Amino acid sequence: MLELDTPVQYLKGIGPKLAEVLAAKDIRTVDDLLHYLPFRYEDRLNPRGIAELRPGEMATVIAEVRTSALFRTRRMPIFEMTAGQGRSRLKCIWFNATYMKDRFQPGQMLALYGKVEAGRNGELQLMQPQVEVLSEDGEPEEAGANLNASLEVGRIVPIYESAGAGRLTSRWFRRVIHAALQSLPPDQDDPIPAIVRQRLSLIPSREAMQKVHWPEAGESFQDLQSFRTPSHIRLIFEELFFIELGLELKRREQRAQTGIAFQLNDAARSAIKKILPFHPTAAQKKVLKEIAADMAKASPMRRLLQGDVGSGKTIVAFEAAIIAMENGCQVALMAPTEILAQQHYFSARRILEAAGYRIVLLTGSLEQDRKREIRRHISQGGAQLVIGTHALIEQKVEFAELGLVIVDEQHRFGVLQRFKLMSKTGTPTQTVAEPDVLVMTATPIPRTLALTLYGDLDLSVIDELPPGRTPIITRRITDDESDKVWEFVRKQVVEGHQAYIVYPVIEDNEESELKAAMKMYRQLSDRTFSELKVGLLHGRMDSELKEQVMRMFQKGELQVLVATTVIEVGVDVPNATVMVIEHAERFGLAQLHQLRGRIGRGAAKSYCVLMTGGKISEDGERRLDAMVRTCDGFEIAELDLELRGPGEFFGTRQAGSPSFQVANIMRDRDLLELAKREAAAVLAGPNNEVSQAEIDRALRHMRAKWPKSYGLVEVG
Ligand code: ADP
Ligand code: MG
Repeated sequence: MLELDTPVQYLKGIGPKLAEVLAAKDIRTVDDLLHYLPFRYEDRLNPRGIAELRPGEMATVIAEVRTSALFRTRRMPIFEMTAGQGRSRLKCIWFNATYMKDRFQPGQMLALYGKVEAGRNGELQLMQPQVEVLSEDGEPEEAGANLNASLEVGRIVPIYESAGAGRLTSRWFRRVIHAALQSLPPDQDDPIPAIVRQRLSLIPSREAMQKVHWPEAGESFQDLQSFRTPSHIRLIFEELFFIELGLELKRREQRAQTGIAFQLNDAARSAIKKILPFHPTAAQKKVLKEIAADMAKASPMRRLLQGDVGSGKTIVAFEAAIIAMENGCQVALMAPTEILAQQHYFSARRILEAAGYRIVLLTGSLEQDRKREIRRHISQGGAQLVIGTHALIEQKVEFAELGLVIVDEQHRFGVLQRFKLMSKTGTPTQTVAEPDVLVMTATPIPRTLALTLYGDLDLSVIDELPPGRTPIITRRITDDESDKVWEFVRKQVVEGHQAYIVYPVIEDNEESELKAAMKMYRQLSDRTFSELKVGLLHGRMDSELKEQVMRMFQKGELQVLVATTVIEVGVDVPNATVMVIEHAERFGLAQLHQLRGRIGRGAAKSYCVLMTGGKISEDGERRLDAMVRTCDGFEIAELDLELRGPGEFFGTRQAGSPSFQVANIMRDRDLLELAKREAAAVLAGPNNEVSQAEIDRALRHMRAKWPKSYGLVEVG
């Protein structure tokens, strides 16, 4: 008998080699394998005889390969395969399918699913059918009528994404999953409390597992394809419920810790008034109030400050810093890049140093001696505001009295990294109290999603831009019209403004047709803009030079800045009014939005020019269209989420961790909210609906499941 946590390599037909292939898909145990759900289903209940097919219908046909060939017509290559059942024959046609040239061998059994059409001389054809090889020629136990009918035909058949570069086919998954299900242990006690199961009419897990892979004949086909059968709901809800349970527990534990009750006293109030270089917007006032109230509590703050690019988060962060510093505590401010850390440092000095606060910048590129000196300054409490990259925390800098940690996330830190950062702040050597944490993000996550996914954080939103901003005008243009663009840039610069010109790569390599930032820098500075002051900024420059270039651009000593995406995040030069992005089709939507966020920061009208060259994918078209259509970060985020999927959107993938097993944030929002509500209800404690024993069981299950399914280790 198998256990759910048995490694897959002990399953029949899987050895250590295949186990490795599966591990790349995050399938390690029997349980993982059973959570590898079909991405669609095919109705093969009634496979059809070729002779009975009618034009216009969609049909499943099980037939044997007879011949196949690739034809080149003037318009496109066409691949033709003739399949047979006894004496009947059926031609199958795929357009533009050179890659299928060697796909079939005579004698193979196929399942074909597609639209039946009448060909030129009246004979029936299957147009571009989906196809699956059911058995190879010469596999005696499976050939022809002995075809393993129970798995491939005469039922609703699950279709799995193949793995291992096509080596592990859908058919392969069907077999191993089928075998695993047969030896599955009977249901244990259900880890989801009875009242929750009742409220949501959840079916038992074992049954759900069976039916989600092998649906019964009566199952609604539409529910299957949309992941909304009772079996799907059970499995998806279960995953989300335990994640929400974990987040809710974490939240409660954090609340129970001892933090620092910061007072927004008169000193802090007047200090804030003094430093403000402008009238804060109503939204900025509102979030500061929320932050101050949270900081005043004795439990540690865990708050997400969300605001679109340019909405003015920095000054809010400085205000929070003042509250902590006026209460005698130190503040750490972490940025995702050195350039940003430097920029924060400059604005902090401009705004805060005048008021007498002691500010230091600690980055990796400083000399050892200087670093040591700064660290001593920090550990002895001399430095009040410490600005750096997140290496600041990873290098275990000792603080005398760390009271507030501000993380400027700006898209770069993934969710999981953020957890890591926070857990590291928990060990300042000389302080007992947990510091407050404020995470700033420009990722405009829809509110419901933010609440559920960042479920352990409270949320403050800056939902208006500072006054006097005119909307940015965005245009698409192909790069054969670049002369016009350069002329426009020149005009803006002559009027006293500045421009960014961004490229996707640094150096030219011969295979790529991309214009590299360096080469274009030479061309633009020597020829096109020979009369202008042009600078270059890219990630491989050493940080001193980077800093110098950035400062010159900030001061207006450079008029045009040719750059790679190092300027994507946070850079703030209000006088820059033009953003030209070459090969815009290569950039992600969030990236484009961030880049555009570098302009439109002052009162003057700003322009974003998306230059494209070469072929643009369908997704690329949608990204560019969205950019032209709207500047609304939320709208852009929704589309981005849709195009990229939640794993990439939230940056879980780049942190090397799996995202959800069966749930999908976009599709399953409704279940996510239900799961959050039910998790909170369960943790509210035993009552006449939930017993302590049930709560304990749920928590045990969550702890066992948590590290694997969400990559977060220290919970509870
Ligand atoms: P982000 O939220 O993207 O970090 P910043 O904090 O960099 O935005 O602010 C963007 C720009 O808007 C900065 O130049 C900042 O000085 C300016 N700014 C912020 N708040 C206001 C305000 N209330 N009135 C006028 N300008 C503001
Ligand atoms: Mg910022």
